[in-house]
Amino acid sequence: MRLRLRNVFLVYFVVSLVGLFCALRELGRPCPCPPPEPERRRGRSVGVSGGEGLPPIYVVTPTYARPVQKAELVRLSQTLLHVPALHWVVVEDAAAPSALVGGVLAASGVSFTHLSAETPPELRGGPGAPSWLFPRGAEQRNRALRWLRDTRRPDEPGVVYFADDDNTYSLRLFEEMRSTRGVSVWPVGLVGGLRLERPLVAGGRVVGFHTGWRPERPFPLDMAGFAVGLRLLLAHPRARFDPRAERGFLESSFLGGLVTPGQLEPRADNCTQVGVWGVLGAFGGLWGLVNPGQLEPRADNCTQVLVWHTRTEKPKLRQEEQLQRQGRGSDPDIEV
Ligand code: UDP
Ligand code: MN
Repeated sequence: MRLRLRNVFLVYFVVSLVGLFCALRELGRPCPCPPPEPERRRGRSVGVSGGEGLPPIYVVTPTYARPVQKAELVRLSQTLLHVPALHWVVVEDAAAPSALVGGVLAASGVSFTHLSAETPPELRGGPGAPSWLFPRGAEQRNRALRWLRDTRRPDEPGVVYFADDDNTYSLRLFEEMRSTRGVSVWPVGLVGGLRLERPLVAGGRVVGFHTGWRPERPFPLDMAGFAVGLRLLLAHPRARFDPRAERGFLESSFLGGLVTPGQLEPRADNCTQVGVWGVLGAFGGLWGLVNPGQLEPRADNCTQVLVWHTRTEKPKLRQEEQLQRQGRGSDPDIEV
């Protein structure tokens, strides 16, 4: 009996020793587990950002130098980081790409292309001119269109979305736009002097628009309220944003180029405009590109707000200017 107990302890001791030895051998070895999610999404080449098999979303963002620029871009990048199969085309309103934006992009973990296109002085308005005199970001979006046309094949799948650097985007928005074939549309919050603007949908079709301003516009949509299929875009090499478009007509200048300008039949009443979808239908049917010839409503038949036209307050830097005059300003070597 005593002998057997000793044997049991002996076996126990040997097994523990072997276990301890194995554990020590594992110490310091590289972890065989897969890299964490964000690592997998990192990538510098187009479409190499997870979500294999999904049509890539090309997010086009115009941006310009100002005190809040880095904050806006960091915030947006950290939204986009959560979206699979996304490529960010950032176009600076500058003569050349800047180190600040380049640094944000390189550190972001998002697949990106960094471009620049300066708004010519005659399209900027003088120092005293109201900010709405000329459309903002037109030159930069056109530069991105050129990049898409230069680098994508006409049959490549994809979706193009124009995302300003200061808006607020729900991740669900990108899921909704992923299936865009022609032109998909959805509501935008806090825009046009309203709580929301939105396409009106009946029977799954866009039949008009809820907007409080210039309802006779061919497409009374904010930039944030639509996406276009890459194939539709590439099939229309001349579609572009008109930098001289009248206030509120920038979106229409572009979308009109995708559905043959002059063919739209706007019929406006108060806050609602009907008629665009019918014309889109006719032409979309011919091209077989605009599914089945209509704007494609998203976000639960355009009843959900998934993007907000937020605007960042201009920071007051009076103290900074005061200290700078005394040569005691904040350290200029620290990027803000
Ligand atoms: N933008 C630009 N150059 C400018 C002003 C604006 O590239 O001189 C960009 C800006 O960064 C943003 C987009 O164009 O991504 C729309 O500008 P903003 O947000 O000022 O317009 P709003 O909110 O009035 O529509
Ligand atoms: Mn804005």
